[in-house]
Amino acid sequence: MYGLAANGLNPNAVKKIFDLKGRPATNPVILHVSTIEQTSKYAFFDEKAKKLAAQFWPGPLTLLLTKRDIVPDITTAGLSTVGIRSPDNKVFQDMLACLEFPLAAPSANPSNRTSPTSPHQVSEMFGHSCPPILDDGPTELGIESTILNLTSKQPSILRLGHITSAEIETCLDLPVSTLIDSNNLNSKLPHSPGMSKVHYAPRTHAILHKSVQACMEYKGFTSNDLIIFNSLQEMERLHNLPCMATALSKEGDLKIIAKSLFGKLHDADKAKFNQLHLCLNDLNDDLALAINDRMRRACAENT
Ligand code: AMP
Ligand code: MG
Repeated sequence: MYGLAANGLNPNAVKKIFDLKGRPATNPVILHVSTIEQTSKYAFFDEKAKKLAAQFWPGPLTLLLTKRDIVPDITTAGLSTVGIRSPDNKVFQDMLACLEFPLAAPSANPSNRTSPTSPHQVSEMFGHSCPPILDDGPTELGIESTILNLTSKQPSILRLGHITSAEIETCLDLPVSTLIDSNNLNSKLPHSPGMSKVHYAPRTHAILHKSVQACMEYKGFTSNDLIIFNSLQEMERLHNLPCMATALSKEGDLKIIAKSLFGKLHDADKAKFNQLHLCLNDLNDDLALAINDRMRRACAENT
């Protein structure tokens, strides 16, 4: 994601992020660091965290750790834990290496809008209030980091992403639980602040279908709707589509679907369709679950 960055140790700087995003003060922001060593200045970095950071940093894994006093309350929304990661992007890393403080950097979108995967989307969403953008082209992965809570009895995944529970279990040699029931956003399972149902919503009314077949059986299409298929292959197998259609990937490669999902939602919003239609993946892979999770949130208002 593109992020809105500010000195994560400076409450006034962090407040500017909250103000610009319209982010509720109850939703903590993640700190970004360049080296593993830096982390122990901001959080209690135990053996588990060390192992995970050694294997997955720089990369899309956010660790929730017990914070040190130097981290201000506004950054962690008053919680005793702080989310930290080291990002795998050269431009961001070069910038972090020049600084003597961590950067708080939530996704660069107004709260509850779709996260941006290109600089263009950022400037469109913020308009005249857009801060300067460090442009490094489209993002590589397309969805937000996996968030792993290391302060609970058993390590638990609070947000699904590219780093899977199986990879984390192998690294730690411990079972890891997933606290998001990605198949049921109404579940009462505990979740972290900010992981509310509606979180990545396009402005266009978006409808989620259980499968491509369920989508084809839907009766409420208008001619100005857009179906966003997971693959071109499945789209081309169908005849007499009821409306316009596009696809997130050619052959259903999950990495490509993850990379293109938010961009497609941004594009669809601009094109002013009546309704968007998304179809869940039927794979049980962590990345498929992460994609389904984002699709559910994009459509959550309407389910
Ligand atoms: P974003 O920066 O937009 O990727 O969102 C960061 C998300 O990380 C928040 O919405 C929370 O869900 C989660 N998070 C960050 N810090 C904490 C924390 N200390 N405890 C629980 N969840 C956190
Ligand atoms: Mg965000």
